[in-house]
Amino acid sequence: MVYHFWHEQPLEQMVLAEIHQKKNFWTINQPSKPSWGIRSIFRSRDLAKPHICYLVGNEADIDFWNQPWHPRGVLSSLIPRHNTVSSLSSLTSLDQIHLDGPWNPTLNIGSLAREKAILSEVLFNDTASNLPIWKPNSNGLFTAKSGWEVTRQKFVKPGWASRIWFSCHIPRHALVSWKALKNGLSTTDNLPFLDPSVNRSCILCNFGLESVTHLFFQCNYSKWIWNIILGKLGHRRNPNPDLLQEELWLANNFKGAGQTSKLAYIAFEAAIYIIWIERNNRVFHKISLPNSTLLSEILILVRSKVLGMKIEEEDNPSNRAIASNFGCTLSPKFRPPEFCSWLKPVQGTYKINSDASLDAEG
Ligand SMILES: [Zn+2]
Repeated sequence: MVYHFWHEQPLEQMVLAEIHQKKNFWTINQPSKPSWGIRSIFRSRDLAKPHICYLVGNEADIDFWNQPWHPRGVLSSLIPRHNTVSSLSSLTSLDQIHLDGPWNPTLNIGSLAREKAILSEVLFNDTASNLPIWKPNSNGLFTAKSGWEVTRQKFVKPGWASRIWFSCHIPRHALVSWKALKNGLSTTDNLPFLDPSVNRSCILCNFGLESVTHLFFQCNYSKWIWNIILGKLGHRRNPNPDLLQEELWLANNFKGAGQTSKLAYIAFEAAIYIIWIERNNRVFHKISLPNSTLLSEILILVRSKVLGMKIEEEDNPSNRAIASNFGCTLSPKFRPPEFCSWLKPVQGTYKINSDASLDAEG
């Protein structure tokens, strides 16, 4: 949409015609009951406004106070118009400051330091016309890429995102887990327009309202599955009541890039995926399975994935037990041999060997 503002003035004309106003496109107010298209255009205009300024020429088509021509933004938001000198407050169009040379000689703003500083930043155009500048681009021209970069909503990537999309993830499992951690699954508590008569209880346990927090893993049906998996990972504990906290616990207890941490995350994501599929099967297909069947399915998935990986792990009893609990074998880390040197003892030193014999060199 911003592209059209930049390249196609007819769009501005269309909007002005649509709302029957002969004012400047950048200063008109949005109509009270706009169509979807008009509303989108106004939203894009407001997004683009802070990123535009002008090389000032002698054309009279720019509103001095209300258009985004100054590098700092709309002038009325920088200088209180009614509190400044009359020679400045009475200006209406931008060409009035640029009649003969860079400044209108009749424009006297006295000793107003703030106004002088702001006006000293005006960019003048040597040619006669006003030239728009797209500030985010160093050459002043609008591009779709720069427009997208400055107008898109930027979110801080959560720490768990890279852990969910780890190097050995199963794509569909990671996707559902990512949505669950973002609370983006279509559980009944996330559907505000759902028919009030629809039953909002958890369909797995028929107890408690369905939500991501409940399904993973407050629900007795799913908690039983996750508790057994935790046991196979070497931990006897109740899961955290919040899925984000549970993932954080997993991250703190299964660090590193070894086989065990990969296995733990594969099991975590497989559990979320399989439980979510079971929930959907019950809702949409009226098919239900006992949680023991789901557990078996998760263990098979984890085992087949881990057996296909060639990731090493430190060889210790704990890691060996975890691999064994999932029907896998540990891929021990290769330890390079450590070289050492030997110094011949001084003359007269004796060494007693285990068979009590004397060394020939001793
Ligand atoms: Zn439940």
